[in-house]
Amino acid sequence: MNQRAQHGGLPAMTSPHTLALTGGRVLCDATSLWGQADIFVSDGHIAGIYPTGDAPDAEVVLDAAGRLVAPGLVDVHVHLRQPGGEHKETIASGTRAALMGGFTTVLAMPNTTPAPDTPEHVRAIRDLIDASAWCHTHIIGAATLNNDCETLTDFAALKSAGCVAISDDAFMLRTREQRREALLRCAELGLVFIAHLEDPALSAGGLMHESDASRRMGVPSQHPETEVRCLEAWREAWREAWDEPTAPPLHLAHVSTAATCELLRFWRPGPTAETAPHYLTLTAEAVAEYGADAKMNPPLKTDADREALLTGLRDGIITCIATDHAPHTPAEKSAGLADAPFGIVGLETALGVVWTHLGHSGAMVDRRVISSMSARPAALFDLNVGRLAVGGPADILVFDPDESWTVDPDRFQSMGRNTPWSGAELYGRVEHVVVAGQVAVRDGILTTDRPSLSP
Ligand SMILES: [Zn+2]
Repeated sequence: MNQRAQHGGLPAMTSPHTLALTGGRVLCDATSLWGQADIFVSDGHIAGIYPTGDAPDAEVVLDAAGRLVAPGLVDVHVHLRQPGGEHKETIASGTRAALMGGFTTVLAMPNTTPAPDTPEHVRAIRDLIDASAWCHTHIIGAATLNNDCETLTDFAALKSAGCVAISDDAFMLRTREQRREALLRCAELGLVFIAHLEDPALSAGGLMHESDASRRMGVPSQHPETEVRCLEAWREAWREAWDEPTAPPLHLAHVSTAATCELLRFWRPGPTAETAPHYLTLTAEAVAEYGADAKMNPPLKTDADREALLTGLRDGIITCIATDHAPHTPAEKSAGLADAPFGIVGLETALGVVWTHLGHSGAMVDRRVISSMSARPAALFDLNVGRLAVGGPADILVFDPDESWTVDPDRFQSMGRNTPWSGAELYGRVEHVVVAGQVAVRDGILTTDRPSLSP
């Protein structure tokens, strides 16, 4: 039963000085904590982790018996749309969706208008975030001015203004010189470059992956090698820039193919990489079934690709899972496969989809499933979150591993409804979410007011 009713009777924000989560099974790979324990929170931080029943008395007690207690999830690839795309999503609606999905930290991608391409624009976006975000939100700087794919931005200035990484997502760097320069600058500044892997010469006009499904449907498709060819270009650029075999300051966005996994396996030390829940669970056949709600870029691939990604995630070739949450309006997405924009929402389904297919099914060790959505993405950008540690921030997720729930997009906090999982029965129901020591979601219901996230 889905208890995510959003109408009436919502609880006000609970900001206790002390809070205890009792009786749950803790899953935290980063601190090697797995087993029954009580977590005691004081003034926004984890003040103690105790054997069940031993936690001190607290103002608020959340019962976690029979539940899993994990670090608040971290999503390093989210499109919040604001500024410029407020008809699709806002910082407020997107970060409320994050909390409902168990995420307490998100990284905002730079394809907004204006883009975070100058310090002034970054600071303006920071002000919007400070005024309206419901969870911790970091800014990824744009790689080119005005996302023009031509003129590299001042990475140092963007870093000083607060950007945690630089990305060319959706506005790919085109030349070897640009890539080389971007990597050299990032290496010098201690920044990570997040690359969108796509060779426009091979993908132009393609609505989906070249596959049995695309041929059957008669839909224009993208060449199967568009992703790996672009990765080869990045490898050339790095080898040209750097003599020694050193890991490049490079993170690969939404990796989707077996060929990419294979190349990464032999590029050591190599880049870090993320994949998305949909590439681990769906194939191009989903486009035949769900139409534009399964249209995204990179497009869904084959079963062999899906299997390779799962193997890569198990081996660490793929570092983490990120949603690529990409909300669009229902009108935009109902324009037909050819005209609908690329992208699906993911924040409110990611844990359920990943838990159902990887954790609940036993395809992956449960604590590794969670670390691939918390500690591992946090470590990529040196964020002090994604782990349950005494003295650390109290960003905590409690979820029911065995109770199923039905995805109902009408109940999403996101303004986007574009999901292929509408009506799906999933395990892994989010029950409580604590962010900065405050109870933001209780019994599956979002609090009525915004948590205070000031440091
Ligand atoms: Zn994206």
